[in-house]
Amino acid sequence: MPGLSCPGCSRAMRSLALARAPLASISIDLCDDCQAIWFDATESQQLTPGAVIQLFRAIGSSQATQREAYPALLPCPRCTTPLSFTQDLQHTTRFTYYRCRYGHGRFTPFVQFLREKNFIRALDPKELERLRAVVTTVRCVSCGAPVPLERSAVCPYCGAPVMLLDPDAVQHALDRLDAAEMKRIAPQPMSGDALIAIANVERELAKSRRDFETESGVDLLKVGLHALRVLL
Ligand SMILES: [Zn+2]
Ligand SMILES: [Zn+2]
Ligand SMILES: [Zn+2]
Repeated sequence: MPGLSCPGCSRAMRSLALARAPLASISIDLCDDCQAIWFDATESQQLTPGAVIQLFRAIGSSQATQREAYPALLPCPRCTTPLSFTQDLQHTTRFTYYRCRYGHGRFTPFVQFLREKNFIRALDPKELERLRAVVTTVRCVSCGAPVPLERSAVCPYCGAPVMLLDPDAVQHALDRLDAAEMKRIAPQPMSGDALIAIANVERELAKSRRDFETESGVDLLKVGLHALRVLL
């Protein structure tokens, strides 16, 4: 069966089977080029912690071969009705996605999925200070624009804060895995120190800075995913 067509680029999406409680599995569709996931109906709420980690890994290893901006109208892969841009709030976390008004599902950019699951978060002032010592410009995780750190910690184009992958959040998700999944994934224990995220940035940049530089500055999400690859 060919994959659903991607709302962003209209090419076939790639299917990924994920574990679902208690025994069944669900298959979600993702597009590497658009760096986004299509969830049918309520699929995103049914993800087990193991499935979230599986998806997180898929995001970490996803490579875009051609990256284009989304078109003005994104058609629902089920009914072709244009998806509605939706802003959501969960506790204090804001995230966005594109939703079919007939309930067929939603198209969620990777970054928004990571926000929704609290894997990435804004930096606190202390972390920002440390980051400024090693990086002058970062790439906005939401829109890709350059964010000059000496002036602000907010993207001048879309208003998104400078965000980092939060290893504590990843650890937290791992902790919620059941014993069997825990064994299968075999995570390394990590320090609970909140500053480990920054330590990762410093260490990874010192090792291979060139890998993370884009024309818009350093891609902190890429640095974080790279640092956590050993863990996942
Ligand atoms: Zn696409
Ligand atoms: Zn639809
Ligand atoms: Zn931005």
